[in-house]
Amino acid sequence: MTELMPNLVFADAKGNIMDFEGLAMVGRSGDYFYPMPCEETIELPRGSQLYVLPKRHPVGFDRHTGEMVVLTRNPYDESQQIFAVATFLPAAYTQTYLASWERRSDSSELPFFAYTALGWHDGFVATGIRTDPSLRQDPNTFHHDRIRQGIRAFTELFPDNRLVEHLQHCAMVYECPAALNLFQDREEAPLPASPFCNARCVGCISKQDPCRPPSPQQRIDFIPSPQEIAEVALKHIFSAQNPVVSFGQGCEGEPLLVADTLRDAIRLIRKETSKGVINLNTNASLPEKVAELADAGLDSMRISMNSARRSTYEAYFQPSYDFDALFRSAQEMKRRERFVSINLFVFPGLSDAPKEVEALKRFVSDAKIDMIQWRNLNIDPDHYLDTIGQKLPAGMGIPRLIHEIPVRAGYFNPYLDLGMS
Ligand code: SF4
Repeated sequence: MTELMPNLVFADAKGNIMDFEGLAMVGRSGDYFYPMPCEETIELPRGSQLYVLPKRHPVGFDRHTGEMVVLTRNPYDESQQIFAVATFLPAAYTQTYLASWERRSDSSELPFFAYTALGWHDGFVATGIRTDPSLRQDPNTFHHDRIRQGIRAFTELFPDNRLVEHLQHCAMVYECPAALNLFQDREEAPLPASPFCNARCVGCISKQDPCRPPSPQQRIDFIPSPQEIAEVALKHIFSAQNPVVSFGQGCEGEPLLVADTLRDAIRLIRKETSKGVINLNTNASLPEKVAELADAGLDSMRISMNSARRSTYEAYFQPSYDFDALFRSAQEMKRRERFVSINLFVFPGLSDAPKEVEALKRFVSDAKIDMIQWRNLNIDPDHYLDTIGQKLPAGMGIPRLIHEIPVRAGYFNPYLDLGMS
């Protein structure tokens, strides 16, 4: 067993990342550290980011003593301090273990990314599994010439469209894969519309309190008109193969808070064509608005959740609405035979904890959920566990959890063949 474990990796003060044969790779799940056998790792996927973690020392496994060891000094130069390293996996990959470290008392909260375990075995390896075969956001599918051409085409076609201007910024500044795909006329396109939200997620990526790490994106500060939305959506639906257009993006608040605009936009789109999938990514807080959008022509809905347990959900989402609204929103869609998925924020050690699994299975079954998108929660693990404030028993493991939930598994909103030309 011991020889089939990847080596620990660490970074020196200059940020050079290297491996150390003397200690094996360790994965973290909740508050538990586990030595990582090779078979629990994959070759590091193309498009992964590597992060050096300030004021955090790596934890490794001593293959001889069987003990966990915190490495604080550079084994190749004892005069140097060293730092833990983690990887941020690309889209379509779900993390199964977190990186392992010991925090220094003067450390501050890490930015909003997922910190997955990284090791070395004839190359970098990581603890994750590919949960979606779609190449929709694979890094080598983005061609900047085509994107620039696409931006020119959109701005020439719709010179006064504020949403086009906003999405141009998303593509060129944030390199948002959904915006990049819009300007390449492929796959799923974003339709952000809401500057407001009725939750205050601890890990919100569009708006954060000044005392927290900055949010990776700025929230849209205007409500596009139904015409502006329909222009973007229809151009995409008529240009892309298997087009999906989605409300509810990382650069906005909650789309249901501007539901009237969305309803009118959907009507404008469906007046022109029955092609394409109109999807809503949402916190599902307003069932009556979901019903209205479904009646207008909404095809699918994705509910964002970190948990199907009220206490864990409320600790993270800090909602101004009742948790039961999520279930009632799913019912409104299912009553109209629409497609409903869950965007589950995967956190090893919490998502697969016994009570969480039980609640998730019950929600999926009772709400007749069609699919779970197993996405990584982008947050400092220590801050998240402090926020949740639960003593977690050992989890069953993320791969087994994905296997045990009897619905379609993936990472992206699927193109649904709605049988209409
Ligand atoms: S529901 Fe979305 S926009 Fe609202 S606080 Fe949470 S992450 Fe942010």
